[in-house]
Amino acid sequence: MSQEAVNDLRSYWMPFTANRQFKSAPRLLVAAKGMYFTSADGRQILDGVAGLWCVNAGHGDRRIVEAVQKQVAELDFASSFQMGHPKAFELASRLARFVPGDLDHVFFTNSGSESVETALKIALAYHRLSGQATRTRFIGRERAYHGVNFGGTSVSGIGNNRRFFGSMLAGVDHLSHTYNLEHQAFSRCQPEWGAHLAEELERIVALHGAETISAVVVEPMAGATGVLVPPKGYLERLQAICHKHGILLILDEVITGFGRLGRGFAADYFGIQPDILITAKGMTNGTVPMGAVIVPKKIHDAFMQGPTQAIELAHGYTYSGHPLACAAGLATLDVHQEEGLASRCAALAPYWEDAIHSLKGLPHVIDLRNIGLLGGIELEPRRDQPTLRGYEVFVKCYESGVLTRGAGDTIILSPPLIIDKRQIDQLISTIAAALKSVA
Ligand code: PLP
Repeated sequence: MSQEAVNDLRSYWMPFTANRQFKSAPRLLVAAKGMYFTSADGRQILDGVAGLWCVNAGHGDRRIVEAVQKQVAELDFASSFQMGHPKAFELASRLARFVPGDLDHVFFTNSGSESVETALKIALAYHRLSGQATRTRFIGRERAYHGVNFGGTSVSGIGNNRRFFGSMLAGVDHLSHTYNLEHQAFSRCQPEWGAHLAEELERIVALHGAETISAVVVEPMAGATGVLVPPKGYLERLQAICHKHGILLILDEVITGFGRLGRGFAADYFGIQPDILITAKGMTNGTVPMGAVIVPKKIHDAFMQGPTQAIELAHGYTYSGHPLACAAGLATLDVHQEEGLASRCAALAPYWEDAIHSLKGLPHVIDLRNIGLLGGIELEPRRDQPTLRGYEVFVKCYESGVLTRGAGDTIILSPPLIIDKRQIDQLISTIAAALKSVA
């Protein structure tokens, strides 16, 4: 193969990317530090999305980099099947103290998607071990994103992610999504309207019988489909109905964990106690792939029956608890604690909210949403060309030195939590200019 062929862009089939469009005008990033990427053409790009909702502590933090470097030289790999290494146990113990309430047993995965699959399996097996084997149904929500594996795709509610892949997991129902432009447009933080939508859970329970339902799986705040902030009272109501019927509440905190809303987790922020918590992304600050499913003693102990030589949960990944990921996770927790990133996020949130809502009245803007250091800018779709306007704004921003994310016609923002007010101003003024320049 010629050198030319090795270096061209053909061979890499990129994920969640319009490959032909991208390769006709590639955007390549070659370095990152703090709040900025460096592009291949040598420009500084302000990171408005924390990479992909994961680099909460900013890029290239010395403490995380050095921990990973040291770890790879010391212990590059050790299996977690019938073996162990100290940092996995240490990280699990530290996480158990960091997450809300009584969640205290940690199962490691390598991604959000794997965490979702793991959580669904734990829920099914838990009910079976507790003498409730008929509880096999799951309830997700429209416009939810729970990753791309079959279980996660099934409980997700995104038509485009499902329609090519057959019949999915059997026995899944969906709650309505909670977004309503008419009743919620330009709400600051949690909208007033929509808590009643949680009552749909009662309707689904009445249809199937509570004894058939294993778990409700929701993101506390639907991120990937446009930063859909939960209506006031909605999550509380969902939790109450789950408790009433013995249904497990699984919160997918892949985005909302690690300080994003101004508390450790969204469960802390909303005062909700999940039965199972899913996380990933910010856990290692995006440096080494890692996810986790965290459960309380009650669920964990249900598995600790039978002969002690028997494997209690026939599930796991070669790279569960990988030494590099554990080193990155421990250093990330140190950074969160030393820098008080969640408190920093909470302190900046009012400035952020005003900045986002200053875009009201600009061309194409039909809604603005915010919570913590998250923002959603909803644009009027162009007639006959939905999503194109959102894409053009994203490209304009990138060309002007700001990285945002386009989810259809919504521009999503989730900057590293180390952002300062001047950088927030840069982000917002760049988006404002882009909005004015697209048709
Ligand atoms: N769950 C939620 C809420 C997410 O936002 C994502 C990714 O954005 C996932 C799961 C999947 O995570 P991953 O891409 O690491 O598999």
